[in-house]
Amino acid sequence: MIERERAFRPISIFIIYLFIFGMLADCKKEKAAEDKRDEGQIFGVKIYEYQGNLPTLFEEWKGMGINTAFVSEILASRDEFRSLAKAMNIAVFVIFPVFYDPESLEKDPDLYAVTDQGERAKEEWVAFVCPSRSDYRRQKIELAKHWVKRLDPDGLSIDFIRHFVFWEKVYPDQTLESLVNTCFDEHCMRKFQQDMEIVIPDSMDTVPKIAHWIRKNCLLEWTQWKCGLITSMVEEIAGEVRKIKPRILINVHAVPWRQKDFSGAVKIVAGQDFAKIAPVVDFLSPMTYAHMVKREPPWIHSVVKDISHQADCRILPSIQVREAYLKDRLTVEEFRASLTEALKPPSQGVVFWSWEALSSEPEKKDVIAELIHLR
Ligand SMILES: [Zn+2]
Repeated sequence: MIERERAFRPISIFIIYLFIFGMLADCKKEKAAEDKRDEGQIFGVKIYEYQGNLPTLFEEWKGMGINTAFVSEILASRDEFRSLAKAMNIAVFVIFPVFYDPESLEKDPDLYAVTDQGERAKEEWVAFVCPSRSDYRRQKIELAKHWVKRLDPDGLSIDFIRHFVFWEKVYPDQTLESLVNTCFDEHCMRKFQQDMEIVIPDSMDTVPKIAHWIRKNCLLEWTQWKCGLITSMVEEIAGEVRKIKPRILINVHAVPWRQKDFSGAVKIVAGQDFAKIAPVVDFLSPMTYAHMVKREPPWIHSVVKDISHQADCRILPSIQVREAYLKDRLTVEEFRASLTEALKPPSQGVVFWSWEALSSEPEKKDVIAELIHLR
């Protein structure tokens, strides 16, 4: 018996040593991920719902090197989520959708943005509110203030801050003319003419005619005005929430189009002018979901570079984890290539869309842990 114990002793000591060494190594990796976030490098996940055990979730994030969570307001409202995030030093950005608002549209369909064909701005789940309604804008700003007061997040991640477009289904062979333009409802038409001192002739008596006239006669002014609606909304939200929490970080979800893609559609269609938005935000986060829009992984880096040339703020690409809309598989190899591209400078990190997708992809989690810890 004694002999056996003696024989075991060196092995036990060795196992304990390995265990402690492993823990120290893990702590070091986690500390390194936190330091990188403080330097501006964010390794984030977007998460919308979660039914499982929260402490286990946070442990898993720490193990992978995740240092930031981009969270729906529903999840961020859970006290346990916020206290664990604080205890584990995971920053929390609350995702705040602006002009995508099915609930408000259900209650008041008059809020719908109107397309150049005179129809409601709706395609599958993508339904957009007209961005010039002052009451709606005021309510949204109040809501942003409410969440910041109540949840005290590290950041606000402003989503659907653009004009209507289902960019997730816009493929490289499309043209500007094939994309729907908005918003041509009475509110926008009146305000556009007032603000830009433009008079649309009375003979333009239908929305398609008006849209055609604008495109032909004052596309530049129209685009400027559209972008102004979006930039001013970012400014107003950021300004108001910073009054409550001066150090709050502001992120804007950006349509992943380069300046010249689809003949300038990022401004003409989406109304996102990155040069103008950048000074009032901390991060611009292009949703570079390459697989979804039929692009190769190097496209991710090209989008980051293109935006960084226009915008004086940190660029934080978000990448997709699993296939969406399209049936062909997003393989582990493609994911690895995408993540490698996403991390190339001047990128300030990466955000994975989404944890829900990652949770069923253990091999991709391993790729994340490996590539983040290498940095
Ligand atoms: Zn409108």
